[in-house]
Amino acid sequence: MLSLSAADEVQALYKHAYEVKKQYVGTTVYFRGLIELSNVCTKNCYYCGIRSGNPLVERYAIGKEEVLAEAAWCFEQRYGSIVLQAGERSNATWTEFVTELIAGIKELSQGQLGITLSLGEQTEDVYRRWFEAGAHRYLLRIETSNPTLYKMLHPADHSYEARVQCLRTLKKLGFQTGTGVMIGLPGQSVEDLADDILFFYDEDIDMLGMGPFIPHKDTPLGYLVASYDPEQAVETGLKMIAVCRIALKDVNIASTTALQALKPSGREMGLLAGANIIMPNITDTRFRRGYQLYEGKPGLDENALTSRQSLEKSILSIGETIGYGQWGDSQHFRNRG
Ligand code: SAH
Ligand code: SF4
Repeated sequence: MLSLSAADEVQALYKHAYEVKKQYVGTTVYFRGLIELSNVCTKNCYYCGIRSGNPLVERYAIGKEEVLAEAAWCFEQRYGSIVLQAGERSNATWTEFVTELIAGIKELSQGQLGITLSLGEQTEDVYRRWFEAGAHRYLLRIETSNPTLYKMLHPADHSYEARVQCLRTLKKLGFQTGTGVMIGLPGQSVEDLADDILFFYDEDIDMLGMGPFIPHKDTPLGYLVASYDPEQAVETGLKMIAVCRIALKDVNIASTTALQALKPSGREMGLLAGANIIMPNITDTRFRRGYQLYEGKPGLDENALTSRQSLEKSILSIGETIGYGQWGDSQHFRNRG
């Protein structure tokens, strides 16, 4: 299915995936307000614009009161939950800061805002403290399930095995666990993508966040900017969403910003190919420019309210509804008890 290329066959694939989505998770889209806490990162992934080795990035960290104000805004807008994402850091000051944020967000929403974290690899103890403070979902992309390709995309001190172990720890602790890959990485084959889906299946994953790889000029993979084909990248990204929906059925699948970066209607196309989650960026526009994992990130100047209104309109226009005020938990998580 991932190899289909004739236009009518690709459309038939999306259509079938949409039927599976309707049957297993319905046509309600859930919003997760995305707050990009900080672009400080101790890792140095070769593909990422905010890697520690990029001296051209001005580093920022949003303060506690500001994060809480952004979360309160999400709560008022009746977003069911939020995502706290940042570069990876493991020092105690940082992990304690995150614990305080989680507790603060729970308090201001009387426990009602769901909290997803996307803060990289941490020790079991840190994951446990964050879970106990009130976070209940975690996103940690495996990036690629091919260990050889993983090695080629990361410095020697980044470990594929450690990342898989983190996913297992998160699940053991009770987190709804999300992972995902970048699609269209240099050296990645269709078989690799098929293996990624088997990895999601074998690891019994609850949520998926996948998106096209988009080269960033100030990274070791910047040489790929010149030959990059956005049309192709969008199509492969959508096919991957569709095949994941067909194969895995009841998981939550995000239609990611990277799709929108390549095509203005990319996120809506993702919903029509089988995704059911959208993560609107609500980070204050002052900080957004600093958080460019890839180039061409959309909505750098768009404020959170106008982007919510236009998103709402386009979702209604494709005949779907928005699950305001609901967590929208992964059915898969419920089904695995
Ligand atoms: N530091 C955390 C979370 C922030 S990075 C972590 O790495 O888990 C979030 C995701 O951005 C990564 O998992 C990666 O899949 C994605 N990303 C980074 N660089 C990218 C690029 N050039 N194109 C597309 N996605 C990218
Ligand atoms: Fe850091 Fe995540 Fe980017 Fe890797 S992908 S450099 S861990 S922010």
